[in-house]
Amino acid sequence: MQTNSKSFPIQLTEKSQVEGVEWDKLEFGKIFSDHMFIMEYADGSWSNGEIVPFQAIPMHPAMSAIHYGQSIFEGLKAYKSKTGQINIFRPELNAHRFAESAKRMCMPEVPEALFLEAVRALIEVDQNWVPALEGYSLYIRPFMFATDHFVGIKPSETYKFMILTSPVGVYYSEPVRVKIEEHYTRAAVGGVGRAKAAGNYGASLYPAKQCQLNGFHQLLWTDAVEHKYIEESGTMNIIFQIGGKLITPSEDSDTILRGITKRTLIELVKEWGIVVEERRVSVEEIITAIREGKLEDAFGAGTAATIAQIAVIGYRDESLQLPPIESRVLSNRIKTYLDAVKYGEIEDVYGWNMTI
Ligand SMILES: *Cc1c(COP(=O)(O)O)cnc(C)c1O
Repeated sequence: MQTNSKSFPIQLTEKSQVEGVEWDKLEFGKIFSDHMFIMEYADGSWSNGEIVPFQAIPMHPAMSAIHYGQSIFEGLKAYKSKTGQINIFRPELNAHRFAESAKRMCMPEVPEALFLEAVRALIEVDQNWVPALEGYSLYIRPFMFATDHFVGIKPSETYKFMILTSPVGVYYSEPVRVKIEEHYTRAAVGGVGRAKAAGNYGASLYPAKQCQLNGFHQLLWTDAVEHKYIEESGTMNIIFQIGGKLITPSEDSDTILRGITKRTLIELVKEWGIVVEERRVSVEEIITAIREGKLEDAFGAGTAATIAQIAVIGYRDESLQLPPIESRVLSNRIKTYLDAVKYGEIEDVYGWNMTI
């Protein structure tokens, strides 16, 4: 995929920090590359987009994002192939989703071409920060927040759009344990669950912490009304395999975040001739399938973790063991294929990569 090359002014850092990175000790999202992108919205338009050294930003105490939460983000990754080529996976879908999130939060849209050009320009400048190690990548975090200096509830008239990047390794080092949540809610119909809005994640921390105290990694969220239908897990979409078919909650309701990893793997497995059912998935159906030994695979899908195979599902006071990870033919095949495309080991026949 190509974008037209408009360019932004670039102020380079005086001294790159890349030499000091301890690649074998990377923790997700803790260190940042040398540069960042920043652009401002005022008087009805975006202007002054530029790449500058990574630095703190000044903040007015009445800045509206802090008080009322007009703040959205995206997450995507750049991968380096053995030949040194850099691939960014389906960034046009992130650009589109960012615009959708902006609309829902009453924020101005960043034109999709501008979003893509900013990502491209920043990764070009910091290309040494894309790790050339298997399983590693440069996580790219575009975000936008309201900057009016005004303590009153109304949509801000000024915003900042920024992009930072962070080299990362493997997200989950072991198969995950998830707990079915029957009290707390991630998103309700009519709410903002479909948007990558900052507040959704703040609101999920307390319930997630409760399950973590009980030895789980993440929650398996259910619908807000009856807690009978499965929606997604943590910040991943959820996928099951029963009777050879791939089964996943449909995204028709606005409570589920429309994941790019999930969309990609659905397109892929359909090509492989696997039947996909996107529909309501009840807790009861999944628990029954586990008990009867019919659940073949279960995994989370998201940019951060890619494919996270689920080892255990907690339901009320029980911990239900899923089939051994070695037997997970489908999730292993999907992960292997997606990694091979991202790291440029096989031909990108679907045109998913934006190459730098
Ligand atoms: C970002 C996110 C996902 C995964 O989306 P990808 O585009 O695959 O990274 C799933 N659920 C939630 C709640 C998310 O925030």
